[in-house]
Amino acid sequence: MAAPEAFGASFEEAPSAHEFELGEGLEGDPAIAFRRTLGMFATGVTVLTTRVAEQVHGMTANAFMSVSVSPPLVLVSIDRRARMGAMMHEGTRFGVSVLEAKQKGLSDRFAGRISDGVPEPTFEIVHETPLVEGALAHLVARVMRSYWGGDHSLFLGQVEFARYSEGRPLLFHRGRYERLIEDPPIFSSLPPELLDPILALGSERSYGNGDVIMKKGEPGDELMLVLEGSVRVQRPGLDVALGAGELVGEIEVLNPGGGRIADITADGPVRCLAVSRESLLTALEADPRAAITLIEVLAARFRATE
Ligand code: FAD
Repeated sequence: MAAPEAFGASFEEAPSAHEFELGEGLEGDPAIAFRRTLGMFATGVTVLTTRVAEQVHGMTANAFMSVSVSPPLVLVSIDRRARMGAMMHEGTRFGVSVLEAKQKGLSDRFAGRISDGVPEPTFEIVHETPLVEGALAHLVARVMRSYWGGDHSLFLGQVEFARYSEGRPLLFHRGRYERLIEDPPIFSSLPPELLDPILALGSERSYGNGDVIMKKGEPGDELMLVLEGSVRVQRPGLDVALGAGELVGEIEVLNPGGGRIADITADGPVRCLAVSRESLLTALEADPRAAITLIEVLAARFRATE
């Protein structure tokens, strides 16, 4: 299919620098406030690579995005001062290596930051293009078009190769590296023969639409299994709906002094099974295997936060 007439046309006339309005409470240098605003958008981290006369060049970039599945297209944004940009021409192949959580050192290295003790990067050549070994995902693309992007240049690449492996990505947020922490369910990790005796001690409750089931801050002395309907779990940074079979309030029941960590409300009519901390302890005493399994789940969660 031919490209639409207007393809890229919006870039023919570059807008000049202009003032923009800062929200209330944001004072000082507008460029800093703008960068900080953009920094709230969490991204992964990639290393872009290319080869010029057998010499491999790499550069850390988080301004990478998927554009189209058919045809497969990606886009990267490169500072006009970066050496990488000068190596990217129509038809140039470039690699995108999506870094894994432990590859912070490589990110620093390819950003020209000091990264003492980081082993020399090694590259695998695919489609005549270097890719950083040990990354979570790899793409090889060929520059199709480039666009003016203010102090950056945008390169649209047609993907020739893609692969990924399992693992956790390195994240970048507010100018800092972050990583994903899985939130493994605690009690639902128990096999049915250990979970069922705990639930057998529960008592059924019904709630109407909008009813508050648990309130943030109040003592958490019971957990609940949703039997029917859907509940809404809300706290700063989290707003999820959980349905039948899900457990809520399980962290607080193990740490009742801390209080509830989220508001939970009924999203329509809901039926739940409430298990008190007292019943839970009775069930765990009756079968210490359940207690040991819970400790293992909690230890795995602790390890993930290291
Ligand atoms: P250089 O600065 O010359 O090279 C970069 C570094 O990589 C140097 O330290 C060099 O020694 C090392 N290096 C290059 N090739 C090799 C090799 N073959 N083996 C070993 N080391 C090698 N800039 C953007 O334009 N767009 C972005 O989206 C972007 N995102 C970023 C995200 C993060 C998290 C960070 C930390 C930086 C980001 N930057 C981005 C900044 C960018 O990475 C740096 O400005 C970078 O130095 C520009 O690279 P360059 O092409 O000018 O080459």
